[in-house]
Amino acid sequence: MSNGKIPVIELFGPTIQGEGMVIGKKTMFVRTAGCDYRCSWCDSAFTWDGSEKANTRLLTASEVYRELVQLGGQNFNHVTISGGNPALIGKPMLELIQLLHENHCKVGLETQGSKWQDWFVLVDDLTISPKPPSSGMKTDFNILDKMIQSLNPEKISLKVVIFDNKDFEFAKVVHKRYPDVDFYVSVGNKDPYEEGDISSRLLQSLDWLWGKVIEDPEMNNVRALPQLHALVWANKRGV
Ligand code: SF4
Repeated sequence: MSNGKIPVIELFGPTIQGEGMVIGKKTMFVRTAGCDYRCSWCDSAFTWDGSEKANTRLLTASEVYRELVQLGGQNFNHVTISGGNPALIGKPMLELIQLLHENHCKVGLETQGSKWQDWFVLVDDLTISPKPPSSGMKTDFNILDKMIQSLNPEKISLKVVIFDNKDFEFAKVVHKRYPDVDFYVSVGNKDPYEEGDISSRLLQSLDWLWGKVIEDPEMNNVRALPQLHALVWANKRGV
């Protein structure tokens, strides 16, 4: 889809990673356009619904790196690539990851696990985030099985966003299927477009999720987290 270039919808930082296996880490963000899913509660629908087509730029790996340095200077050593689904991009993404490594930057990446790319093996922290029933999407476990078998368990994690009891049951199925992979559950944000402080709503959801995890012996090894950035910065974009 990208003719040697990466479709970039936004690029920002330094900021703090608010979720998953590198939560709290200072990082730059590259958000790519395009997704093969249409999750009902997608908080990044602007990456695929056409609303920001005019703001999507096709950039080479070197151009992305140059802009990251312009924004962050010496003030970062980690870059998070998110989407959309960055796994829709082939060689140009490989080039970006290699370039970041050459410049002593670690690379984190998040994908829902619907599509394999050979460059996955180079990602330093790869979060695979299968979508639960409330998203309206269906996970292809054949693809996910192969993906997880092909990756170093120390460099990957699984994360399931949870909105309700059915999602929680789905998370248990995923965790049971891949017991050796670090597993995170995260509370969903029911209204990613609400303005103002949303922290009390999110903390109530976290209280509910923690209660579920605490009482469930099948969830003894999971880590249940909030979306930290949404607690601090609400639904603001580009932070
Ligand atoms: Fe949105 Fe992610 Fe679902 Fe794609 S996979 S629709 S970016 S939540």
